[in-house]
Amino acid sequence: MASEKGPSHMDATLGRRIEPWDFVESFEPRALRKETYLLYELRWTSGKIWRNANRNTTQHAEVNFIEKHISERRIRPSTNCCITWFLSWSPCWECAKVIKEFLSQHPRVTLVINAARLFYHTDPQNRQGLRDLVASGVTIKIMSMAEYRYCWEQFVNYPPGEEACCPRYTPEPMMMYALELQSTILNLPSCLKISKSHQNQLAFFNLTLQNCHYEAFYLLALGLLTAFYPTWR
Ligand SMILES: [Zn+2]
Repeated sequence: MASEKGPSHMDATLGRRIEPWDFVESFEPRALRKETYLLYELRWTSGKIWRNANRNTTQHAEVNFIEKHISERRIRPSTNCCITWFLSWSPCWECAKVIKEFLSQHPRVTLVINAARLFYHTDPQNRQGLRDLVASGVTIKIMSMAEYRYCWEQFVNYPPGEEACCPRYTPEPMMMYALELQSTILNLPSCLKISKSHQNQLAFFNLTLQNCHYEAFYLLALGLLTAFYPTWR
């Protein structure tokens, strides 16, 4: 449980929280770090919630998660639970295959993926992998400040009194990644260009929108307006 004095000493997740600098550097949308962090939450039907973190080793973090929980028999074919991932990079196409297989063998498991960045987002196989995950029922989103705040409170060993000191990243890269994710899911051409800067510096983002993007995003916005403001017309 979080408090104004830092995570409580009674907090069972204390030893599993990551350090603030590690979170800030790993999840910065413009930092193209090679490592992948996976912060995860399992919600059981009993109401219990487990939280933990892992990262890539010789295998990607997503595969480590799946192998660990299957080998420890935490998740069995009949298990009913909701899994939420906060990933510093979205799954690659190979992980997407493993995740898809895992979900087909565990039909009562739902998975929500919140990603800080899109992994090699112009690679056609990675783009197809994300579409396959969506087709398998996975919800994929780009992390917004709400998710960053949530991770800070639930997964970070923040210093005493700094519960509200979640890093404030520039919002533009998050929005651009979100549009690129929509383009990917809708099978439109990539609209995001990321230019790497010098080592250890943050990348630059540019959007190049074509007519198909404007049409798709217009329809998307229209759908949202219709859903949330049914009388707007
Ligand atoms: Zn992968």
